[in-house]
Amino acid sequence: MTRARMPRPHEVAAARRDPRLLRALAERRLDEAWRTRGVCQSVDPETFFPAPSEPADPAVALCRTCEVQGPCLAWALDAGDAHGVWGATTPRERRAMQIAWQAPAGQIPPDGSQPGRDVRDRLLSLVPLT
Ligand code: SF4
Repeated sequence: MTRARMPRPHEVAAARRDPRLLRALAERRLDEAWRTRGVCQSVDPETFFPAPSEPADPAVALCRTCEVQGPCLAWALDAGDAHGVWGATTPRERRAMQIAWQAPAGQIPPDGSQPGRDVRDRLLSLVPLT
């Protein structure tokens, strides 16, 4: 088993601007029943867990058609799930997103509601690049 390398600063910077991450932030807790509506419900689960030597493209393409990719990616980032394709992202992409995702606890409203756009922008800009 090989160890995953740490994301490089330019990868984290790109992750901060990634529309998939911003969508996940916006839809983080909007749909607690997202799993029941995922496109993957009707596809072989193995598709979403390709071997390291296999391409993830087929799974990512399916995710891109899925209406719940925002909450799905938010779940994977909250869980720190390092395996498989979630919310149209590969594990490598999520490692960079994970750094941007980790916000100071006090920045998230206690009721779990969505922060406004200015707060989300601040959350993403507060995370150190190193
Ligand atoms: S985004 Fe992908 S992994 Fe997530 S629910 Fe949809 S199809 Fe499944």
